[in-house]
Amino acid sequence: MKIVVCAKQVPDTTEVKLDPKTNTLIRDGVPSIINPDDKAGIEAALQLKEKCPGSTVTVISMGPPQADVALREALAMGCDDAVLVSDRAFGGADTWATSSTIAAAIKKLDYDVIITGRQAIDGDTAQVGPQIAEHLGIPQVSYVEELDVEGTDTLVVQRQFEDRHQIIEVKTPCLITALAELADPRYMTVHGAFDAYREKEVKVWGLADLEDTVDQANIGLKGSPTRVKKSFTKQAKGAGTILKDLSADEAVTAIVDKLQEKHII
Ligand SMILES: Cc1cc2nc3c(=O)[nH]c(=O)nc-3n(C[C@H](O)[C@H](O)[C@H](O)COP(=O)(O)OP(=O)(O)OC[C@H]3O[C@@H](n4cnc5c(N)ncnc54)[C@H](O)[C@@H]3O)c2cc1C
Repeated sequence: MKIVVCAKQVPDTTEVKLDPKTNTLIRDGVPSIINPDDKAGIEAALQLKEKCPGSTVTVISMGPPQADVALREALAMGCDDAVLVSDRAFGGADTWATSSTIAAAIKKLDYDVIITGRQAIDGDTAQVGPQIAEHLGIPQVSYVEELDVEGTDTLVVQRQFEDRHQIIEVKTPCLITALAELADPRYMTVHGAFDAYREKEVKVWGLADLEDTVDQANIGLKGSPTRVKKSFTKQAKGAGTILKDLSADEAVTAIVDKLQEKHII
């Protein structure tokens, strides 16, 4: 099986703090990581490869040259090949332009299964995976929390909903979007880390490499139907009120009154 995993390098948003004075995000020193859902996707791909001998896992990322580090990490975990899609022409892309570009790169690869994360923790839209499937004209299953293979061309996946689960059979080629629960990512091995930097290659594909598969009207800022007009931090909450010297009954009444006053209940 030819498996392609899309992995985005993202700032570790659990490390982003708010400056209480300026109310802006403190980004300095925030490490970049592989998006957690994508890391689960890489692990699921490696497990699929172990189940189906002869399989290969290619990891692909669109981003600036620094995203090389994320791809080396994926190689050190055991992926076979890595492609970095990087060119100034792709900058400023919204999800439509991002997915058009990634799909154009995937068209140049052999694939049976494409795995993306459900959602990236920075952009948070959960749109790129389904859009890639649409661009490629292949079936998709999102919110996958379990994955197995039947025969040579069928995946059996469990899909998570808010209140239920669904088991779906899907023929390859197909795309699935992985939840972080799909698989516990393995650690890189020391050997793997050495190989990732000394033996393996991260191919870098720019606009010229995608000329025959990409539609230039659908890339970068110019090819983005949406544009971020303004972005700002949410106001920090007020200091709150402390209710003192009340009996339990009085405290309950006071809280309920307050909630009613604010139309919360
Ligand atoms: C209106 C708008 C304007 C934007 N303008 C800019 C801009 O000017 N500059 C800028 O840097 N960003 C911009 N962005 C952010 C950019 O669109 C997103 O980073 C990108 O489209 C991915 O979307 P997401 O983070 O919501 O990913 P999601 O859709 O949440 O990601 C789902 C999955 O898709 C895959 N995936 C997503 N992105 C990549 C990637 N780059 N490489 C590999 N796999 C990927 C991953 O597997 C990921 O788990 C903009 C976003 C919007 C909505």
